[in-house]
Amino acid sequence: MATQAWRRGASSLLGAGGGAARALALWREGGRAGARNPLRGARTLSEAAGAGRATGGGKLKYGTLGALVLVTGYGFAGYGFYDRFRSKEDGEGVGGDGEGIVNWSGTHACTPVKLHEPETLEELEALVKKCHEQGRKLRPVGNALSPNGIALSDHEMVSLAMMDKVLAVNKRKRQVTVQPGCSVGRLCGELRKRGLVLENLASIAEQQVGGFLQIGAHGTGAAIPPVEMQVVEMKVMTPGEGLVTVRRDEDPETFRMLQCGLGMFGVVCEATIQCVRAHKLLEHTFTLSKDQIQKQHADLIKKHKHVRYHWIPYTDDVVVTTCDDYTLWNRLGYGMEKAATYSDEERLNPLRSLLLESGERRPEDLAGLSFADLRTMLLERNSLDVNHIKRVNQAEAEFWKRSEGYRIGYSDEILQFDCGGQQWVLEMAVGAGTLERPSYADVDYVRELLEEIEFREIPAPAPIEQRWTASSQAVLSPASSTDPSSIFSWIGIIMYLPLSDLKARAKVTEGFKAYSSLMRSVLEGLEAQEHWAKIELPSNQEEREDVVKRIARRYPVEKVRQLRSRFDPKNILGSDMLDELFGLL
Ligand SMILES: Cc1cc2nc3c(=O)[nH]c(=O)nc-3n(C[C@H](O)[C@H](O)[C@H](O)COP(=O)(O)OP(=O)(O)OC[C@H]3O[C@@H](n4cnc5c(N)ncnc54)[C@H](O)[C@@H]3O)c2cc1C
Repeated sequence: MATQAWRRGASSLLGAGGGAARALALWREGGRAGARNPLRGARTLSEAAGAGRATGGGKLKYGTLGALVLVTGYGFAGYGFYDRFRSKEDGEGVGGDGEGIVNWSGTHACTPVKLHEPETLEELEALVKKCHEQGRKLRPVGNALSPNGIALSDHEMVSLAMMDKVLAVNKRKRQVTVQPGCSVGRLCGELRKRGLVLENLASIAEQQVGGFLQIGAHGTGAAIPPVEMQVVEMKVMTPGEGLVTVRRDEDPETFRMLQCGLGMFGVVCEATIQCVRAHKLLEHTFTLSKDQIQKQHADLIKKHKHVRYHWIPYTDDVVVTTCDDYTLWNRLGYGMEKAATYSDEERLNPLRSLLLESGERRPEDLAGLSFADLRTMLLERNSLDVNHIKRVNQAEAEFWKRSEGYRIGYSDEILQFDCGGQQWVLEMAVGAGTLERPSYADVDYVRELLEEIEFREIPAPAPIEQRWTASSQAVLSPASSTDPSSIFSWIGIIMYLPLSDLKARAKVTEGFKAYSSLMRSVLEGLEAQEHWAKIELPSNQEEREDVVKRIARRYPVEKVRQLRSRFDPKNILGSDMLDELFGLL
């Protein structure tokens, strides 16, 4: 029984079903069967980063495993994790001899004294009760993917990886009831069998449902709210009041607070989510100039169900990706514009040529590498040399021009995206008017940011990503609004982290701090808010205080404190960052 549970747990930490399959497929891909896990054996953050080299570089998509895997000295890292940390059947956690958990990008780590993995509601209840009585810190964690490591803690942690069942599907209401340990990818797979799908997805589907909902994740689509808005009912295990059930149509004030609760009010142990009919999307990728965006923006976000812009710094190009319901698109009689077709080789040539220029690599070294792999290899050469970055960005723009065209597939496949390798990211949500009357503040903002980047010669790689959602009723969503017609734009900047060169990695980290400060300063006055999985507390005290003040202007922190003291009176679930942001320190 214990062994079985352990095995099951290991696979669920690896994102069972779709997620695990994907991570493991990536792992085995590219002739690397039997290669060492990049994080295996690593014990510190820098070792974890450096260990990535063992994969031979390039295949940085293995970074996915980094999020899902623990840094341990044992076999396949996921198993090591469970071996060392998983809860005993009596509900007591084990572990505590120095192994740690690293997030997806290897930017944050922790060494929890214990990690608990209850298998039943009763075990979870007993654990939360005991920790509450004894005042022991207990941080809920999903798949630990968040770029800022928001779920990580050096105290005790609780993962619902063992509580990962799809409990019920109501086809008539198109609702699913699921345990939060289930990965988003596996849930989509189960829903597809029943003709349903989640209304929207983030770029990846390896998150646990609990993390996905509690962090307030989002996809794109100006008429579609962030994912927490699909929650109809939630069961939450709270330290102060035990098991609490909250419903959208009853006690909406509490529900709206818990909807995007960041794991600080209770451990979500069941969620009923509104789904939509499974459908195929027609994806169209094309490039526009900045001026064309300015002219077409209002039409683009109104006409298309999902729209994403990837602005490419130091070029005039914006890659636009739209997705629409394929059946509806046909019914409305919209056609498909004819685009020039390029072979994969021709599309990748601009990046390949740049890589081959120095003579260090031979064409055969690059065979089979994807666009994201090639870009990562190029950036690894010198990701802080602005002249180099300009050339890489130009090659990327040319790649996208040659990639214009259409793709048709199920929405849960089409909406995912290859996000590249380990990275620093900052994403902020900013009010963008309404669909009827977009304010253009968001588009103007990105244009201003691009000008500043060029003026200050910031080595900004592509893309600056821009997406949209409808507003959310969740109090703590960065897209929270009482006006249901308002829309929000989510703007993200990125710097990719070299895997092997730790000095270069540290320099990129410093470079990203400067880039983030620039983003924040250009956004000043727009009251933009960071995505909760991407907020980092600046080390500069003044900037840090600004972040805290901005949080206090945007969110009702007093109400947050009151609800925290009701559901978690001893503050066992919080973290230092959340306590600082919500004024508990
Ligand atoms: C490559 C990449 C791409 C991404 N793309 C997007 C994107 O397109 N859109 C987007 O919005 N986000 C995106 N993200 C962020 C990502 O969606 C979130 O970080 C993610 O939802 C976290 O899922 P997780 O299971 O790893 O949660 P964790 O990181 O483990 O936890 C996230 C939060 O949820 C809480 N939590 C987890 N489980 C529970 C539970 N059962 N009960 C109570 N609280 C819980 C934790 O305490 C924490 O506060 C991306 C991240 C990466 C690494």
